[in-house]
Order: sequence, then C-alpha cells, then structure tokens
Amino acid sequence: VEQSLRHAQKLEAVGQLTGGIAHDFNNLLMVITAGLEMLERRSDPARRETLMRGMRQAAQRGAGLTRQLLAFSRSRELRPESVDLARLISDTRALLDRSLRGDIEVNVDLAPGLWPVIADPGELELVILNLAVNARDAMPNGGVITLQGENVDDADGRGEFVRLAVRDTGVGMADAIKARVFEPFFTTKDVGKGSGLGLAQVYGFAKQSGGSVTIDSTVGQGTTITLLLPRSHAPAQAHGPMTLAAEASPP
Ligand code: ADP
Repeated sequence: VEQSLRHAQKLEAVGQLTGGIAHDFNNLLMVITAGLEMLERRSDPARRETLMRGMRQAAQRGAGLTRQLLAFSRSRELRPESVDLARLISDTRALLDRSLRGDIEVNVDLAPGLWPVIADPGELELVILNLAVNARDAMPNGGVITLQGENVDDADGRGEFVRLAVRDTGVGMADAIKARVFEPFFTTKDVGKGSGLGLAQVYGFAKQSGGSVTIDSTVGQGTTITLLLPRSHAPAQAHGPMTLAAEASPP
C-alpha cells in the first residue's frame, strides 16, 4: 500500500511538474529560435558570439532540467552499493567543473581513511552536482565551495556514518526560506533557472540511503548542507565514472 501511495504521489508531482517544465522549455526554445534567426541576419562577429553564448546557455539549462526531471521520475529502485567517496568525487570532478564558473574555487577536504558508504553511486553523484550548482547560484560574485568528508563514530547514538558537508561562501538563506527548501518545486530562482527539485532529490536520497541531511545557513555568510551516510563494511566497488559523467561525455 505504501508503495502504491508513494507511486501515486510521485505521479501527481510529475504531473504538476510537466506544466512548469513545459513552460520553462518553451522559453528556452524561444531564446534559441530567436537567436538562430538573428544569427542568420548578423555578420558582426562580436554580436554573433554573444548570441551563440546565449543559445548555448539556454541549451545547457534545458539539459539540466531534463536531467532533474529524469532523476525525479525515474521509477527504478535505487541500487545501493559500497562507494568510495574520494573516488566518486574525483570521477565527478570534470562534470562539476563544467557546471561552475571560473570565479568559483572548489576545495576537496576528505579525511584520510574515510570509510566507504552505502549509497547508489549515480544518485550520489547527482546529489553532489545539485549541491554544487546551488552553491554556485548563491555566489553570483564568486567564492569557495568546500566538500568536506569525515568519519563519525556515533552520530546521535545511531551508529557509524560518514559526514559529507558541502559549504559555500554565498548569500545564505533567511529562516523562512530554509524551512521550505526541501519541498519539491520550492524555488526562489527565475523561471527557467530553478525547478525546485534539487534539494527534494537530496532529501529523498538521504532518507532512502538510511542517512539524513541538515542545513546550516547564515544570511550574508554562506550555507552548509550536511549529509550523513551509513558506513559500509564491504570494500568499495570499483567502476568508472557513473551515469551522469558517462552521459555528459561522448562515447
Ligand atoms: P532550485 O535550485 O531549482 O531552486 P533546490 O531545491 O535545489 O531548487 O533549492 C531550493 C531553494 O533553496 C533555492 O531556490 C534557493 O532559494 C535555496 N537554496 C538552495 N541551496 C542554497 C544555497 N547553497 N545557498 C542559498 N540558498 C540556497
């Protein structure tokens, strides 16, 4: 019963989502269509370059939206396995850097001897990307993103976890916003820029992994999103970059 209820809720959410996404897509396609028409008429190289940059950004935003939609609506069960965070982060690094801007620095600070965690690696990769993109959007004038990982012997009496914190030096959040960020479709971003699904995905992932996620944020100083993921006692499974990284690069 719980399963089918969850499925029904998901379908409803996807239904609501379709309207919003269709609208966002339409705007992005208009940018591209109008850009193409202007390109045909302009010969000034600087102007053409600006048009092409705008079109490329619109296409990338469209791709980001589909990715989130797919992750959200995917009916497959998560497939948790034993994951080495250091390796997963380094495998995700190229995709991560492509999602950021030059004025954003990324620091990876993982404690030596970090335990493997139990998680679905493709989904964990998406979580890290979602958090990094949020951090980027919170730092319009640039700043630093820190990914910090450490072992926690006994998290609130619940056993062994690995703590992964994603910290930014961005604008932070007021309490009223902080209270709502895990809701699906809650966004403060412009139409076409935010789907409001990023942190909902992070929350769902943490719950389904047997872990948790918390937010610590100060307006004007920055935000830290902290994940606790259960320790795995099996050796980490070896494989190449996960689904997203594989999708993003040509075969
Ligand atoms: P989206 O990024 O599409 O808006 P999210 O669920 O990822 O959806 O985030 C919801 C909202 O939470 C954002 O619109 C933003 O207002 C706020 N938020 C998320 N991450 C951060 C952050 N690192 N710093 C400041 N605000 C954030």
